[in-house]
Amino acid sequence: MIDIRTTQGGSIAIAKERFDALRAALRGSLVFPTDAGYDVARSLWNGMIDRKPAAIVRAAGAGDVIQAVNFAREHRLLLAVRGGGHNIAGKAACDGGLMLDLSAMKSVRVDPNLALARVEPGALLSDFDRETQAFGLSTPTGINSTTGIAGLTLGGGFGWQSRKRGLTIDNLVGVDVVLASGEFVQANDKHNADLFWAVRGGGGNFGVVTSFEYRLHKLGPEVVAGLIVYPFDQAHGVFEGWRSFTAKAPEEMTAWLVLRHAPPLPFLPESVHGKAVIVVAFCWIGEVSRGHELAAQLRRFGTAAGEHVGAMPFVNWQTAFDPLLAPGARNYWKSHDFKALTHDVERILCEAIGRLPTSECEVFIGHLGGAVNRVATDATAYPHRDVEYIVNVHTRWREPSEDAKCIAWARGLFDALTPHATGGVYVNFMPEDETQRVAAGAYGSNYGRLVDLKAKYDRANLFCLNQNIRPQA
Ligand SMILES: Cc1cc2nc3c(=O)[nH]c(=O)nc-3n(C[C@H](O)[C@H](O)[C@H](O)COP(=O)(O)OP(=O)(O)OC[C@H]3O[C@@H](n4cnc5c(N)ncnc54)[C@H](O)[C@@H]3O)c2cc1C
Repeated sequence: MIDIRTTQGGSIAIAKERFDALRAALRGSLVFPTDAGYDVARSLWNGMIDRKPAAIVRAAGAGDVIQAVNFAREHRLLLAVRGGGHNIAGKAACDGGLMLDLSAMKSVRVDPNLALARVEPGALLSDFDRETQAFGLSTPTGINSTTGIAGLTLGGGFGWQSRKRGLTIDNLVGVDVVLASGEFVQANDKHNADLFWAVRGGGGNFGVVTSFEYRLHKLGPEVVAGLIVYPFDQAHGVFEGWRSFTAKAPEEMTAWLVLRHAPPLPFLPESVHGKAVIVVAFCWIGEVSRGHELAAQLRRFGTAAGEHVGAMPFVNWQTAFDPLLAPGARNYWKSHDFKALTHDVERILCEAIGRLPTSECEVFIGHLGGAVNRVATDATAYPHRDVEYIVNVHTRWREPSEDAKCIAWARGLFDALTPHATGGVYVNFMPEDETQRVAAGAYGSNYGRLVDLKAKYDRANLFCLNQNIRPQA
Protein backbone atom coordinates (compact mmCIF):
# COMPACT_ATOMS: atom_id res chain seq x y z
CA MET A 1 0.00 0.00 0.00
CA ILE A 2 1.12 3.54 -0.66
CA ASP A 3 -0.04 6.44 1.50
CA ILE A 4 -0.97 9.50 -0.46
CA ARG A 5 -2.57 12.82 0.51
CA THR A 6 -6.09 13.76 -0.47
CA THR A 7 -7.68 17.13 -1.18
CA GLN A 8 -9.54 16.80 2.13
CA GLY A 9 -6.31 17.20 4.11
CA GLY A 10 -5.95 13.56 5.18
CA SER A 11 -4.41 10.66 3.35
CA ILE A 12 -5.46 7.29 1.94
CA ALA A 13 -3.61 4.07 1.36
CA ILE A 14 -3.78 2.89 -2.23
CA ALA A 15 -2.78 -0.62 -3.23
CA LYS A 16 0.47 -0.78 -5.14
CA GLU A 17 -1.37 -2.72 -7.87
CA ARG A 18 -3.44 0.37 -8.60
CA PHE A 19 -0.26 2.32 -9.23
CA ASP A 20 1.07 -0.54 -11.35
CA ALA A 21 -2.07 -0.30 -13.46
CA LEU A 22 -1.58 3.46 -13.79
CA ARG A 23 2.05 2.96 -14.80
CA ALA A 24 1.06 0.39 -17.41
CA ALA A 25 -1.40 2.86 -18.94
CA LEU A 26 1.20 5.64 -19.33
CA ARG A 27 3.38 6.47 -22.30
CA GLY A 28 5.55 8.47 -19.91
CA SER A 29 6.60 7.27 -16.47
CA LEU A 30 5.40 7.01 -12.90
CA VAL A 31 8.11 7.97 -10.44
CA PHE A 32 8.33 7.29 -6.70
CA PRO A 33 10.71 8.91 -4.18
CA THR A 34 13.32 6.19 -4.56
CA ASP A 35 13.28 6.27 -8.39
CA ALA A 36 15.76 8.05 -10.64
CA GLY A 37 14.35 11.32 -11.91
CA TYR A 38 12.23 11.97 -8.81
CA ASP A 39 14.29 14.89 -7.55
CA VAL A 40 14.62 16.46 -11.00
CA ALA A 41 10.87 16.31 -11.55
CA ARG A 42 9.92 17.79 -8.20
CA SER A 43 12.50 20.58 -8.02
CA LEU A 44 11.23 24.04 -8.85
CA TRP A 45 12.82 27.38 -9.74
CA ASN A 46 12.27 28.80 -6.26
CA GLY A 47 14.77 27.14 -3.90
CA MET A 48 12.45 27.92 -0.95
CA ILE A 49 10.15 25.16 -2.18
CA ASP A 50 11.19 21.62 -1.34
CA ARG A 51 8.05 19.51 -1.64
CA LYS A 52 8.01 15.74 -1.82
CA PRO A 53 5.08 14.23 -3.67
CA ALA A 54 4.17 10.59 -2.99
CA ALA A 55 4.27 9.92 -6.72
CA ILE A 56 4.93 11.81 -9.93
CA VAL A 57 3.40 11.15 -13.32
CA ARG A 58 5.88 12.34 -15.93
CA ALA A 59 3.48 12.78 -18.81
CA ALA A 60 4.46 12.20 -22.42
CA GLY A 61 1.19 13.42 -23.92
CA ALA A 62 -2.49 14.27 -23.42
CA GLY A 63 -3.27 10.57 -22.92
CA ASP A 64 -1.05 10.47 -19.85
CA VAL A 65 -2.65 13.65 -18.54
CA ILE A 66 -6.10 12.05 -18.82
CA GLN A 67 -4.83 8.99 -16.92
CA ALA A 68 -3.32 11.12 -14.15
CA VAL A 69 -6.37 13.36 -13.78
CA ASN A 70 -8.73 10.36 -13.65
CA PHE A 71 -6.52 8.65 -11.07
CA ALA A 72 -6.37 11.78 -8.92
CA ARG A 73 -10.11 12.46 -9.17
CA GLU A 74 -11.16 8.86 -8.44
CA HIS A 75 -9.04 8.81 -5.27
CA ARG A 76 -9.57 12.51 -4.42
CA LEU A 77 -5.83 13.02 -4.41
CA LEU A 78 -4.06 16.27 -3.84
CA LEU A 79 -2.85 17.08 -7.37
CA ALA A 80 -0.09 19.50 -8.37
CA VAL A 81 0.47 20.41 -12.03
CA ARG A 82 3.92 21.44 -13.24
CA GLY A 83 4.69 23.26 -16.48
CA GLY A 84 8.08 24.98 -16.42
CA GLY A 85 8.25 24.95 -12.60
CA HIS A 86 9.01 28.67 -12.45
CA ASN A 87 6.16 30.06 -10.41
CA ILE A 88 7.24 31.95 -7.30
CA ALA A 89 4.44 30.39 -5.22
CA GLY A 90 5.79 26.90 -5.98
CA LYS A 91 2.41 25.21 -6.22
CA ALA A 92 3.61 22.98 -9.04
CA ALA A 93 4.81 20.48 -6.43
CA CYS A 94 3.02 19.15 -3.35
CA ASP A 95 3.93 17.27 -0.21
CA GLY A 96 2.57 13.75 -0.12
CA GLY A 97 0.17 14.09 -3.07
CA LEU A 98 0.31 13.31 -6.79
CA MET A 99 2.37 15.57 -9.04
CA LEU A 100 1.68 15.78 -12.74
CA ASP A 101 4.89 16.83 -14.41
CA LEU A 102 4.42 18.12 -17.96
CA SER A 103 8.02 19.18 -18.48
CA ALA A 104 8.77 16.44 -21.01
CA MET A 105 6.00 17.71 -23.31
CA LYS A 106 8.09 20.33 -25.10
CA SER A 107 7.05 20.24 -28.73
CA VAL A 108 6.76 23.58 -30.55
CA ARG A 109 5.37 23.30 -34.08
CA VAL A 110 5.38 26.45 -36.20
CA ASP A 111 3.16 26.83 -39.24
CA PRO A 112 4.92 29.68 -41.07
CA ASN A 113 2.16 29.97 -43.69
CA LEU A 114 -0.62 30.55 -41.20
CA ALA A 115 1.70 32.24 -38.68
CA LEU A 116 0.58 29.93 -35.89
CA ALA A 117 2.45 27.87 -33.32
CA ARG A 118 1.22 24.75 -31.50
CA VAL A 119 3.05 24.42 -28.22
CA GLU A 120 3.05 21.72 -25.55
CA PRO A 121 2.91 22.78 -21.88
CA GLY A 122 6.43 21.71 -20.88
CA ALA A 123 8.06 24.11 -23.33
CA LEU A 124 10.14 26.90 -21.87
CA LEU A 125 10.33 30.34 -23.44
CA SER A 126 13.76 29.37 -24.80
CA ASP A 127 12.17 26.46 -26.69
CA PHE A 128 9.45 28.73 -28.05
CA ASP A 129 11.86 31.52 -29.02
CA ARG A 130 14.27 29.26 -30.88
CA GLU A 131 11.57 27.54 -32.92
CA THR A 132 9.57 30.63 -33.78
CA GLN A 133 12.59 32.82 -34.52
CA ALA A 134 13.86 30.20 -36.97
CA PHE A 135 10.99 31.52 -39.09
CA GLY A 136 11.43 35.17 -38.11
CA LEU A 137 8.24 34.92 -36.06
CA SER A 138 7.29 35.41 -32.42
CA THR A 139 4.51 36.38 -30.02
CA PRO A 140 4.67 38.28 -26.71
CA THR A 141 5.90 36.18 -23.79
CA GLY A 142 8.15 36.94 -20.78
CA ILE A 143 11.67 38.26 -20.29
CA ASN A 144 13.42 35.23 -18.77
CA SER A 145 14.00 32.32 -21.14
CA THR A 146 13.82 29.60 -18.50
CA THR A 147 10.18 30.44 -17.66
CA GLY A 148 7.56 27.87 -18.65
CA ILE A 149 5.18 28.98 -21.36
CA ALA A 150 2.23 27.16 -19.75
CA GLY A 151 2.04 28.93 -16.41
CA LEU A 152 3.02 32.22 -18.00
CA THR A 153 0.20 32.01 -20.55
CA LEU A 154 -2.43 30.87 -18.08
CA GLY A 155 -1.79 33.93 -15.92
CA GLY A 156 -1.66 36.44 -18.79
CA GLY A 157 1.95 36.78 -19.94
CA PHE A 158 3.80 39.95 -20.82
CA GLY A 159 7.26 40.98 -21.96
CA TRP A 160 9.16 43.01 -24.54
CA GLN A 161 6.54 42.75 -27.28
CA SER A 162 3.42 43.32 -25.22
CA ARG A 163 3.06 47.08 -25.66
CA LYS A 164 2.85 46.49 -29.40
CA ARG A 165 1.03 43.15 -29.52
CA GLY A 166 -0.71 42.63 -26.19
CA LEU A 167 -0.40 39.94 -23.59
CA THR A 168 0.42 36.34 -24.41
CA ILE A 169 -3.27 35.51 -23.92
CA ASP A 170 -4.26 38.22 -26.40
CA ASN A 171 -2.39 36.14 -28.98
CA LEU A 172 -3.76 32.80 -27.86
CA VAL A 173 -5.99 31.21 -30.50
CA GLY A 174 -7.04 28.07 -28.71
CA VAL A 175 -6.16 25.41 -26.16
CA ASP A 176 -6.64 21.68 -25.62
CA VAL A 177 -7.72 21.00 -22.05
CA VAL A 178 -8.18 17.93 -19.89
CA LEU A 179 -10.99 18.81 -17.51
CA ALA A 180 -11.40 17.55 -13.94
CA SER A 181 -13.85 14.98 -15.33
CA GLY A 182 -11.05 13.56 -17.46
CA GLU A 183 -12.80 14.76 -20.60
CA PHE A 184 -10.55 16.22 -23.31
CA VAL A 185 -11.97 19.39 -24.86
CA GLN A 186 -10.84 22.11 -27.19
CA ALA A 187 -11.53 25.72 -26.27
CA ASN A 188 -11.37 28.75 -28.51
CA ASP A 189 -13.60 31.65 -29.55
CA LYS A 190 -16.17 29.29 -31.07
CA HIS A 191 -16.04 26.15 -28.91
CA ASN A 192 -16.24 26.18 -25.14
CA ALA A 193 -15.79 29.94 -25.34
CA ASP A 194 -16.46 30.35 -21.61
CA LEU A 195 -13.60 27.99 -20.79
CA PHE A 196 -11.37 29.82 -23.26
CA TRP A 197 -12.24 33.08 -21.49
CA ALA A 198 -11.37 31.56 -18.10
CA VAL A 199 -8.00 30.06 -19.03
CA ARG A 200 -6.85 33.42 -20.38
CA GLY A 201 -5.73 34.67 -16.97
CA GLY A 202 -7.50 32.24 -14.64
CA GLY A 203 -4.38 30.13 -14.13
CA GLY A 204 -4.54 26.38 -13.74
CA ASN A 205 -7.95 26.46 -12.05
CA PHE A 206 -10.01 25.01 -14.89
CA GLY A 207 -8.13 22.02 -16.24
CA VAL A 208 -4.77 20.85 -17.51
CA VAL A 209 -3.86 22.50 -20.79
CA THR A 210 -2.09 19.99 -23.02
CA SER A 211 -1.60 22.28 -26.03
CA PHE A 212 -1.58 26.00 -26.70
CA GLU A 213 -2.03 27.59 -30.12
CA TYR A 214 -0.59 31.08 -30.61
CA ARG A 215 -0.87 33.68 -33.34
CA LEU A 216 2.61 34.73 -34.47
CA HIS A 217 3.99 38.02 -35.76
CA LYS A 218 7.08 38.95 -37.70
CA LEU A 219 9.92 39.87 -35.38
CA GLY A 220 13.57 40.68 -35.94
CA PRO A 221 15.47 38.46 -35.98
CA GLU A 222 17.42 41.48 -34.66
CA VAL A 223 16.09 43.90 -32.10
CA VAL A 224 17.83 46.90 -30.56
CA ALA A 225 18.12 46.20 -26.88
CA GLY A 226 20.37 46.44 -23.89
CA LEU A 227 21.19 47.68 -20.44
CA ILE A 228 22.28 51.20 -19.51
CA VAL A 229 23.61 51.24 -15.98
CA TYR A 230 23.57 54.46 -13.94
CA PRO A 231 25.08 54.97 -10.48
CA PHE A 232 22.32 55.17 -7.90
CA ASP A 233 23.11 58.76 -6.94
CA GLN A 234 21.62 59.66 -10.34
CA ALA A 235 18.38 57.80 -9.61
CA HIS A 236 16.24 60.93 -9.54
CA GLY A 237 17.41 62.07 -12.98
CA VAL A 238 16.91 58.60 -14.39
CA PHE A 239 13.40 58.37 -12.95
CA GLU A 240 12.53 61.82 -14.40
CA GLY A 241 13.90 60.95 -17.84
CA TRP A 242 12.34 57.49 -17.87
CA ARG A 243 8.93 58.79 -16.70
CA SER A 244 8.68 61.26 -19.55
CA PHE A 245 10.20 58.80 -22.04
CA THR A 246 7.76 56.00 -21.23
CA ALA A 247 4.81 58.41 -21.24
CA LYS A 248 5.24 58.97 -24.97
CA ALA A 249 7.35 56.02 -26.15
CA PRO A 250 6.25 54.27 -29.34
CA GLU A 251 4.67 50.89 -28.69
CA GLU A 252 7.62 49.08 -30.26
CA MET A 253 9.71 50.37 -27.34
CA THR A 254 9.61 48.92 -23.84
CA ALA A 255 11.90 50.29 -21.13
CA TRP A 256 12.02 48.70 -17.67
CA LEU A 257 13.95 49.89 -14.65
CA VAL A 258 15.97 47.60 -12.40
CA LEU A 259 17.17 48.87 -9.01
CA ARG A 260 19.83 46.70 -7.37
CA HIS A 261 23.51 46.23 -6.56
CA ALA A 262 25.60 46.03 -9.73
CA PRO A 263 26.66 42.49 -10.55
CA PRO A 264 30.23 42.05 -11.85
CA LEU A 265 29.24 42.48 -15.48
CA PRO A 266 32.17 42.70 -17.90
CA PHE A 267 31.04 46.05 -19.34
CA LEU A 268 31.00 47.73 -15.90
CA PRO A 269 34.12 49.16 -14.24
CA GLU A 270 35.13 47.23 -11.14
CA SER A 271 34.56 50.31 -9.02
CA VAL A 272 30.81 49.93 -9.65
CA HIS A 273 30.55 46.22 -8.82
CA GLY A 274 28.47 45.68 -5.71
CA LYS A 275 27.30 49.33 -5.59
CA ALA A 276 23.66 50.36 -5.92
CA VAL A 277 22.70 51.16 -9.51
CA ILE A 278 19.61 51.98 -11.51
CA VAL A 279 19.47 50.16 -14.81
CA VAL A 280 17.42 50.99 -17.88
CA ALA A 281 16.68 47.66 -19.59
CA PHE A 282 15.03 48.16 -22.93
CA CYS A 283 14.00 46.46 -26.13
CA TRP A 284 12.95 48.05 -29.42
CA ILE A 285 11.17 45.66 -31.78
CA GLY A 286 10.79 48.05 -34.74
CA GLU A 287 13.14 49.07 -37.52
CA VAL A 288 16.75 48.89 -36.31
CA SER A 289 17.98 52.42 -37.19
CA ARG A 290 15.08 54.03 -35.29
CA GLY A 291 15.97 51.84 -32.32
CA HIS A 292 19.44 53.32 -32.19
CA GLU A 293 17.94 56.85 -32.18
CA LEU A 294 15.71 55.99 -29.24
CA ALA A 295 18.58 54.31 -27.37
CA ALA A 296 20.43 57.64 -27.60
CA GLN A 297 17.55 59.27 -25.68
CA LEU A 298 17.85 56.67 -22.91
CA ARG A 299 21.53 57.57 -22.56
CA ARG A 300 20.61 61.17 -21.72
CA PHE A 301 19.02 60.29 -18.37
CA GLY A 302 22.44 60.84 -16.73
CA THR A 303 26.06 59.77 -17.02
CA ALA A 304 26.10 56.00 -17.31
CA ALA A 305 28.65 53.84 -15.51
CA GLY A 306 28.51 51.43 -18.42
CA GLU A 307 26.22 49.95 -21.01
CA HIS A 308 25.68 46.92 -23.17
CA VAL A 309 23.47 48.11 -26.03
CA GLY A 310 23.13 47.18 -29.67
CA ALA A 311 21.31 45.33 -32.40
CA MET A 312 21.21 41.68 -31.44
CA PRO A 313 19.21 38.54 -32.17
CA PHE A 314 15.99 38.56 -30.17
CA VAL A 315 16.75 35.04 -28.89
CA ASN A 316 19.96 36.38 -27.32
CA TRP A 317 18.24 39.31 -25.66
CA GLN A 318 15.65 36.91 -24.22
CA THR A 319 18.44 35.27 -22.21
CA ALA A 320 19.89 38.54 -20.90
CA PHE A 321 18.43 38.16 -17.41
CA ASP A 322 18.86 34.39 -17.13
CA PRO A 323 22.14 34.51 -15.15
CA LEU A 324 20.63 36.83 -12.53
CA LEU A 325 17.48 34.74 -12.27
CA ALA A 326 18.91 31.24 -12.38
CA PRO A 327 17.00 28.50 -10.51
CA GLY A 328 17.97 27.34 -7.03
CA ALA A 329 18.18 30.50 -4.93
CA ARG A 330 15.63 31.27 -2.24
CA ASN A 331 13.09 33.79 -3.52
CA TYR A 332 10.15 35.79 -2.19
CA TRP A 333 8.28 38.32 -4.31
CA LYS A 334 5.74 41.07 -3.76
CA SER A 335 4.09 42.92 -6.60
CA HIS A 336 1.88 45.96 -7.19
CA ASP A 337 0.22 47.43 -10.29
CA PHE A 338 0.49 51.18 -10.94
CA LYS A 339 -1.12 53.68 -13.29
CA ALA A 340 1.68 56.18 -12.66
CA LEU A 341 5.10 56.09 -11.01
CA THR A 342 4.87 59.20 -8.86
CA HIS A 343 7.59 61.03 -6.95
CA ASP A 344 6.31 59.41 -3.75
CA VAL A 345 6.79 55.95 -5.24
CA GLU A 346 10.26 56.94 -6.43
CA ARG A 347 11.18 58.15 -2.95
CA ILE A 348 9.94 54.95 -1.28
CA LEU A 349 11.83 52.77 -3.75
CA CYS A 350 15.04 54.75 -3.40
CA GLU A 351 14.94 54.55 0.40
CA ALA A 352 14.41 50.78 0.20
CA ILE A 353 17.37 50.30 -2.13
CA GLY A 354 19.52 51.86 0.58
CA ARG A 355 18.51 48.89 2.77
CA LEU A 356 18.76 45.97 0.31
CA PRO A 357 19.06 42.84 2.47
CA THR A 358 21.32 40.91 0.03
CA SER A 359 23.21 41.70 -3.14
CA GLU A 360 20.80 39.57 -5.20
CA CYS A 361 17.66 41.45 -4.13
CA GLU A 362 16.22 43.91 -6.61
CA VAL A 363 13.22 45.91 -7.71
CA PHE A 364 12.01 45.44 -11.28
CA ILE A 365 9.69 48.06 -12.76
CA GLY A 366 7.92 46.65 -15.79
CA HIS A 367 6.55 48.95 -18.48
CA LEU A 368 3.13 48.03 -19.88
CA GLY A 369 0.33 50.04 -21.51
CA GLY A 370 -0.13 50.17 -25.28
CA ALA A 371 -1.87 47.19 -26.87
CA VAL A 372 -2.35 45.46 -23.49
CA ASN A 373 -4.67 48.25 -22.44
CA ARG A 374 -6.76 48.31 -25.61
CA VAL A 375 -8.43 45.03 -24.60
CA ALA A 376 -11.60 45.30 -22.51
CA THR A 377 -11.33 44.40 -18.83
CA ASP A 378 -13.92 41.63 -19.23
CA ALA A 379 -12.65 40.28 -22.57
CA THR A 380 -10.43 37.75 -20.78
CA ALA A 381 -10.08 36.67 -17.17
CA TYR A 382 -7.02 38.93 -16.80
CA PRO A 383 -8.56 42.24 -15.69
CA HIS A 384 -5.69 44.72 -15.35
CA ARG A 385 -6.16 46.63 -18.59
CA ASP A 386 -5.41 50.09 -17.23
CA VAL A 387 -1.98 49.39 -15.77
CA GLU A 388 1.08 51.26 -17.03
CA TYR A 389 3.74 49.90 -14.66
CA ILE A 390 4.26 46.85 -12.46
CA VAL A 391 6.65 47.09 -9.51
CA ASN A 392 8.09 43.74 -8.49
CA VAL A 393 10.04 43.38 -5.29
CA HIS A 394 12.33 40.43 -6.00
CA THR A 395 13.92 39.27 -2.78
CA ARG A 396 16.58 36.66 -3.43
CA TRP A 397 19.11 35.05 -1.11
CA ARG A 398 20.92 31.77 -0.38
CA GLU A 399 20.80 30.92 3.34
CA PRO A 400 17.67 29.86 5.26
CA SER A 401 19.01 31.95 8.14
CA GLU A 402 18.31 35.04 6.01
CA ASP A 403 14.65 34.15 5.33
CA ALA A 404 13.13 36.39 7.98
CA LYS A 405 15.26 39.44 7.15
CA CYS A 406 14.62 39.20 3.40
CA ILE A 407 10.91 38.53 3.63
CA ALA A 408 10.49 41.39 6.12
CA TRP A 409 12.26 43.79 3.72
CA ALA A 410 9.95 42.75 0.85
CA ARG A 411 6.82 43.08 2.95
CA GLY A 412 7.91 46.43 4.37
CA LEU A 413 8.50 47.87 0.91
CA PHE A 414 5.24 46.40 -0.35
CA ASP A 415 3.31 47.96 2.53
CA ALA A 416 4.91 51.36 1.98
CA LEU A 417 3.92 51.26 -1.70
CA THR A 418 0.36 50.06 -1.11
CA PRO A 419 -1.33 53.50 -0.79
CA HIS A 420 0.09 54.50 -4.20
CA ALA A 421 -0.78 51.33 -6.12
CA THR A 422 -4.02 50.32 -7.87
CA GLY A 423 -4.67 47.39 -5.52
CA GLY A 424 -4.44 45.01 -8.46
CA VAL A 425 -1.81 42.32 -8.89
CA TYR A 426 -0.73 40.07 -11.74
CA VAL A 427 -1.58 36.56 -10.54
CA ASN A 428 1.72 35.14 -11.80
CA PHE A 429 3.71 37.37 -9.45
CA MET A 430 1.89 36.41 -6.26
CA PRO A 431 3.73 34.44 -3.59
CA GLU A 432 2.18 31.52 -1.80
CA ASP A 433 0.96 33.51 1.20
CA GLU A 434 -1.29 35.92 -0.72
CA THR A 435 -4.50 33.88 -0.94
CA GLN A 436 -6.44 36.87 0.37
CA ARG A 437 -5.47 38.86 -2.74
CA VAL A 438 -6.87 36.39 -5.29
CA ALA A 439 -10.42 37.71 -5.44
CA ALA A 440 -10.10 41.49 -5.42
CA GLY A 441 -6.41 41.85 -6.26
CA ALA A 442 -5.84 39.32 -9.02
CA TYR A 443 -9.31 39.18 -10.57
CA GLY A 444 -11.36 42.19 -9.46
CA SER A 445 -14.59 42.53 -11.43
CA ASN A 446 -13.96 39.24 -13.28
CA TYR A 447 -13.90 37.18 -10.09
CA GLY A 448 -17.64 36.44 -9.94
CA ARG A 449 -17.68 34.95 -13.44
CA LEU A 450 -14.55 32.93 -12.66
CA VAL A 451 -16.23 31.44 -9.57
CA ASP A 452 -19.24 30.40 -11.66
CA LEU A 453 -17.01 28.81 -14.27
CA LYS A 454 -14.97 27.05 -11.61
CA ALA A 455 -18.21 25.54 -10.31
CA LYS A 456 -19.09 24.47 -13.86
CA TYR A 457 -15.72 22.92 -14.76
CA ASP A 458 -14.21 21.86 -11.42
CA ARG A 459 -16.89 21.77 -8.75
CA ALA A 460 -14.83 19.52 -6.45
CA ASN A 461 -11.80 21.82 -6.78
CA LEU A 462 -9.46 19.08 -7.97
CA PHE A 463 -7.25 21.82 -9.38
CA CYS A 464 -6.71 23.58 -6.06
CA LEU A 465 -2.93 23.98 -6.08
CA ASN A 466 -2.79 27.36 -7.79
CA GLN A 467 -3.91 30.88 -6.85
CA ASN A 468 -7.18 29.19 -6.11
CA ILE A 469 -10.61 30.29 -7.28
CA ARG A 470 -13.00 28.35 -5.09
CA PRO A 471 -16.22 27.01 -6.67
CA GLN A 472 -19.32 28.67 -5.18
CA ALA A 473 -20.74 25.42 -3.83
C1 LIG B 1 12.54 34.76 -12.93
C2 LIG B 1 11.13 34.95 -13.39
C3 LIG B 1 10.84 35.81 -14.41
C4 LIG B 1 9.52 36.00 -14.83
N1 LIG B 1 9.27 36.88 -15.83
C5 LIG B 1 8.00 37.01 -16.27
C6 LIG B 1 7.70 37.89 -17.36
O1 LIG B 1 8.57 38.54 -17.92
N2 LIG B 1 6.42 37.98 -17.76
C7 LIG B 1 5.43 37.26 -17.19
O2 LIG B 1 4.28 37.38 -17.63
N3 LIG B 1 5.67 36.44 -16.14
C8 LIG B 1 6.93 36.31 -15.69
N4 LIG B 1 7.19 35.47 -14.64
C9 LIG B 1 6.08 34.81 -13.96
C10 LIG B 1 5.69 33.53 -14.70
O3 LIG B 1 4.77 33.86 -15.69
C11 LIG B 1 5.05 32.54 -13.72
O4 LIG B 1 6.01 32.18 -12.78
C12 LIG B 1 4.50 31.32 -14.41
O5 LIG B 1 3.58 30.69 -13.57
C13 LIG B 1 5.56 30.35 -14.80
O6 LIG B 1 5.04 29.28 -15.52
P1 LIG B 1 5.65 27.81 -15.35
O7 LIG B 1 4.92 26.91 -16.27
O8 LIG B 1 7.12 27.89 -15.48
O9 LIG B 1 5.31 27.57 -13.85
P2 LIG B 1 4.81 26.30 -12.95
O10 LIG B 1 5.34 26.60 -11.60
O11 LIG B 1 5.17 25.03 -13.61
O12 LIG B 1 3.28 26.47 -13.01
C14 LIG B 1 2.62 27.47 -12.29
C15 LIG B 1 1.21 27.03 -12.05
O13 LIG B 1 0.51 27.05 -13.29
C16 LIG B 1 -0.36 25.94 -13.37
N5 LIG B 1 -0.01 25.19 -14.57
C17 LIG B 1 1.20 25.07 -15.15
N6 LIG B 1 1.09 24.39 -16.30
C18 LIG B 1 -0.21 24.09 -16.45
C19 LIG B 1 -0.97 23.45 -17.46
N7 LIG B 1 -0.41 22.96 -18.56
N8 LIG B 1 -2.30 23.34 -17.30
C20 LIG B 1 -2.89 23.84 -16.20
N9 LIG B 1 -2.23 24.46 -15.22
C21 LIG B 1 -0.91 24.59 -15.35
C22 LIG B 1 -0.24 25.19 -12.08
O14 LIG B 1 -1.25 25.64 -11.20
C23 LIG B 1 1.09 25.62 -11.54
O15 LIG B 1 1.16 25.60 -10.14
C24 LIG B 1 8.49 35.27 -14.20
C25 LIG B 1 8.78 34.40 -13.16
C26 LIG B 1 10.08 34.23 -12.75
C27 LIG B 1 10.37 33.31 -11.60
